[in-house]
Amino acid sequence: MRWPAEPALGGWYTDEEHAAVIQVLTESADWRIGFRAKEHEVAFETAFAHYIGAREAVAVNGGGTGLDMVLECLKLRPGDEIISCAINFVGTHVSVLRRGAQLVVCEPDPLTLNIDPADAERVISPRTRAIVVTHMNGLAADLEALAAVAVRHPHPTHGPPVIIGDAARACGATYNGARVGGQGWASIFSFQSKKPMTTLGQGGMVTTNDPALAKRLRRLRSFGKNQDLGTNYKMTKAQAAVGLVQLRRLDAMNQARIDLARHRSAALRAALDSVGGAGGVLLPPEPGGFGHLYYRYNLLLPPSCAARERDEVIATLASRFGVGCIVADPPTYRTHPRIAEHLSGRRCPVADQVADRLFCPSLHPLMSPQDNSLIADAIAETLIETLDRPR
Ligand SMILES: *Cc1c(COP(=O)(O)O)cnc(C)c1O
Repeated sequence: MRWPAEPALGGWYTDEEHAAVIQVLTESADWRIGFRAKEHEVAFETAFAHYIGAREAVAVNGGGTGLDMVLECLKLRPGDEIISCAINFVGTHVSVLRRGAQLVVCEPDPLTLNIDPADAERVISPRTRAIVVTHMNGLAADLEALAAVAVRHPHPTHGPPVIIGDAARACGATYNGARVGGQGWASIFSFQSKKPMTTLGQGGMVTTNDPALAKRLRRLRSFGKNQDLGTNYKMTKAQAAVGLVQLRRLDAMNQARIDLARHRSAALRAALDSVGGAGGVLLPPEPGGFGHLYYRYNLLLPPSCAARERDEVIATLASRFGVGCIVADPPTYRTHPRIAEHLSGRRCPVADQVADRLFCPSLHPLMSPQDNSLIADAIAETLIETLDRPR
């Protein structure tokens, strides 16, 4: 594929990251120093907390690990419920099930793909302990509306359900002028290879304004520090050193992706308008107050072209133009049988319909403007052909 559906590396590396790795290798060769990560870890955590605008940042070896640890700190009991949008990364819901909670899925907003606060309020109950909010594809979810829902429905012993943000795809995204990750009880970030910033393949961070939670997470990361039963969830020294460099470069890497996405949207809008309107194709939204990173570039076909025609669009873009597309993401109960079983057949009709209309053509910040124009032309040609077809 000329332009693969999912870039294997989210951002890019420069001489600075290379130098940081060499520096770690060089200094660690001294047997009195070794690969002990403490100073690098503290430097990365401090810089990350400052960048996000959160009180604390705790470095871990993955985003999934971070979510698992935060859920462990909720001390969930059987019957406790956690609300999360059906359209999601499958691992996010796997964490909820692993922790023994009842996953309660709700609908997305059909344009942003983010959790619909009104539907979260419809499914909330006196057993709800948390709302796990994924900022889908680099666009912040409506955190204030969700916090208001939580406050209106306190748990009888634990108070309002906590908001846990899954910001794995939204590192650097903004919400009402602040960075995603400073709100709610905790937020998790991933620095896995595909994410906006990366730390040599794996890595993650948890941000929180709750010092007690940060302290507990630091214990869990290090075998419990003789108080808890943790294990080893630590990030390596080289990862922390590279993370510090990637963080400094994050806004520039994100801006490159944002610029390409906006150009693509403008080109698509012009091409579709020239043939008498977009025919109901929805381009990715940038709602006021929400800074989109375009980790994925979401397009939605009209409901009349769901499923089969959407699959044909994806196949044509791949075979004729070399443009890879993914559906990010279908409802998790469609991809993981254990989740389907856990939900006893419950479905979210809006999520199902959106997942049948959705496709995300390749986007990477290192694409040239020429690449991006070719991709926009390919999408426009394929869409016009599909929408013009009599049905
Ligand atoms: C990648 C991702 C994760 C998991 O992060 P890892 O660092 O790979 O464990 C969690 N949630 C979402 C939304 C993701 O995209």
